[in-house]
Amino acid sequence: MNYTMQNAVMLVDADNTLWDTDGVFANAQLALLTEIEALSGIKCPEQDRLAYVRRHDQALAAVHHQHLKYPIQMLGSSLLSGLNGQTAEDAATALVNGRATRVSFKTAIVDRAISHYADALGKIPELLPSVIEGLQAAWKRNISIIVLTEGRIEKQRSTIEAHHLGGYFSGVWEVKKDREQFERLCRRFDGALVVVIGDQPDRDIVPAKQAGCMAVLVPSRFRPSWRTEADEQAADFVAENFSIAIKWSIDATDGDYPTRR
Ligand SMILES: [Mg+2]
Repeated sequence: MNYTMQNAVMLVDADNTLWDTDGVFANAQLALLTEIEALSGIKCPEQDRLAYVRRHDQALAAVHHQHLKYPIQMLGSSLLSGLNGQTAEDAATALVNGRATRVSFKTAIVDRAISHYADALGKIPELLPSVIEGLQAAWKRNISIIVLTEGRIEKQRSTIEAHHLGGYFSGVWEVKKDREQFERLCRRFDGALVVVIGDQPDRDIVPAKQAGCMAVLVPSRFRPSWRTEADEQAADFVAENFSIAIKWSIDATDGDYPTRR
């Protein structure tokens, strides 16, 4: 069946696909480490400071039931435990099980650093390269682009506003990215080819493919430890940047593609 541009819909991930959320996190995480070092008087023993913080971040995400949405105070406590000699894994397990060591209860240090960390996380992220070009290409072809986010919708809306991108999107939707939700979205756009574009294979690509969407991966710098090769290979196409992803999607929807059922 041939799809035409009138019945193609592109569902686009926001964080690390449209804008550099990872960069905001990196700056905030480095500043957090610096502040906890200063407050505790203990220097980070490793040269790659960002990797050090991220090991603590990923260890917490791996054991906390809210995954990457674990309470941010825990990262401060975990780093403080780390500077005092504990491994990231031991610190994370202790914090999640409520068995934190005495040192991580130095809440005055953690609280102070965490309030600055929260402010730094609230910064507006920069747009990633070629995003405007990609959005313009879709806009010229009259393609409906909807932002899909698992994060807070107000945050995504304010980033869109700050970059004056409102005119390019038909909507910003907060959804849990699993197979059922993508199936629901496919039913909603019944008859249209639904293309999902995102940077995270396990969140954007695998469930979208399971639901019968077309899926384009734009790999970002943010690579969590649980990311697998197999997940990456599930994508219909791996694009170097957003604009290439949009142009490939336009070509694909112009071409001859099997129906999704
Ligand atoms: Mg993302």
